[in-house]
Amino acid sequence: MPLPVLSSGGSTTGATSVESGPTQEAKEKCGVFGVWGGPEPATLTYLGLYAQQHRGQESAGIAVTDGTRLGAHTGMGLVSEIFDQRTLSDLERLTKPASPIKPTSGTNGTHPAPAQSGKGCGAIGHNRYSTAGGSISCNAQPLLESYVGGQVAVAHNGNLINAELYRLLFEQSGHLFHTTSDTEVIIHLLASPAQQRTVDPLAATLRHLQGAFSLVFLFPNRIEAARDPWGWRPLVLGELKDGRAVVASETVALDVIGAEFIREVEPGEIVTLDDRGVTSRRFADAAPHPAHCIFEHVYFANPSSNVFGQNVQMVREALGAQLAIEAPVSADYVMPMPDSGRSAAAGYAQQSGIPYREGIVPNRYVGRTFIKPTQAERSAAVRLKLNVIREMVKGRRIIVVDDSIVRGTTTQVKMDQLRQAGAKEIHLRISCPPIRHPCYFGVDFAHRDQLIAHQKTIEEIRAFLDVDTLHYLSMEGMLACMTRAKESYCTACYSGNYRLDPDHPVTDEMATSQMTMF
Ligand code: SF4
Repeated sequence: MPLPVLSSGGSTTGATSVESGPTQEAKEKCGVFGVWGGPEPATLTYLGLYAQQHRGQESAGIAVTDGTRLGAHTGMGLVSEIFDQRTLSDLERLTKPASPIKPTSGTNGTHPAPAQSGKGCGAIGHNRYSTAGGSISCNAQPLLESYVGGQVAVAHNGNLINAELYRLLFEQSGHLFHTTSDTEVIIHLLASPAQQRTVDPLAATLRHLQGAFSLVFLFPNRIEAARDPWGWRPLVLGELKDGRAVVASETVALDVIGAEFIREVEPGEIVTLDDRGVTSRRFADAAPHPAHCIFEHVYFANPSSNVFGQNVQMVREALGAQLAIEAPVSADYVMPMPDSGRSAAAGYAQQSGIPYREGIVPNRYVGRTFIKPTQAERSAAVRLKLNVIREMVKGRRIIVVDDSIVRGTTTQVKMDQLRQAGAKEIHLRISCPPIRHPCYFGVDFAHRDQLIAHQKTIEEIRAFLDVDTLHYLSMEGMLACMTRAKESYCTACYSGNYRLDPDHPVTDEMATSQMTMF
């Protein structure tokens, strides 16, 4: 029976190239969202994805259920490019049962049939930026599959470090994969007889996974949301005024649809959203110390979101203030590098008492820029995106505050723009420590050899960028801005201290859960 997939991987923009935003050197997958119950769960999911667009601009998708069958629409590009009134109406139609609904059996037992309008339906969604698997249309999520337990759609934020190993084992035993994404391994694990024989196949599946995952599954009769035992990526639970339950990567998605934040999904927890409400169970104990990605606060998350118990804007301002304490300098203006340097620059200005001025403005009408073959063309793209206000800069001593430097090539172009505009002194301040190591847990930094701080000393970076002074925030200073114990955060891209060894993903801690797959 063909699945009611409206379209899968189709591009509404023709934008199937690998995106390389010159001002976005670090990329993350992804944003997830889910809401159980009607009316209009697909539209709410669309709004939730829109609010989380910053977490991934490569592709997006929505999967829906009417209580018995799933349907989905995915595509390449921005949420606004993929969905229009027609596709959303089609998705909403798929959430409305055409005939009386019979009780359905899921992998976790039999669930009651929907008793009234608004129940028995739901939707999940995903914004994607690839870190594992390429930027190709088949990798757009939610991935929707049929297996022995029925249908399932899955949306994943994070990165699995043992997915390649499992993929190889599955392929050697004859499994066929439709995508190059690490997420598809999860469905193959779920479908395996070894998991299906257990009381709780989903929990058994999750115990095999190593790495970072905030996952939202859609089954015909429920949503299941799960977070890895380390809590690398955020995942929050909310409630709409009419009582419907919502899950999202960030609280900004709850705000946009008028839902109230209830709590974080705990590390090692599975939360079920269905017609009975919200229930919880564990698939694993929480790790002794969480590994919350501190880079969510430094760069990724929306400033209005509360992540790991703290508001992102407030944290960024605190990082900037701490930077002013650690690296003061006399200057005329504090100037943010838009957009992600703004909050830290505000904190730096307030702490230092030096006026905050915006002298670098983004061109709001420039869309995404695609890989350019030469450095000269990439530089032109940066100049196109950020324009310097010469009158603000000429003859001034400027403190420029940015959130991070990855490869350094983009920053070099920005500093050159300021010099060309006549800046007298440029003092560059970075609101996190130098990024010297790659991330294996959901952020797509450049390869180690391309990270400028891995290659060069701070003085060499300063000379490369041609700035008068350069200071990064210290690790101690960064962690002092966080309210949870410092052991609660992953800082591996700065320190090289990985909580899990990416080359040897099976740890003693998890070895007992590495059960037979087949
Ligand atoms: Fe976040 Fe860096 Fe850890 Fe990756 S290595 S999870 S970017 S803190």
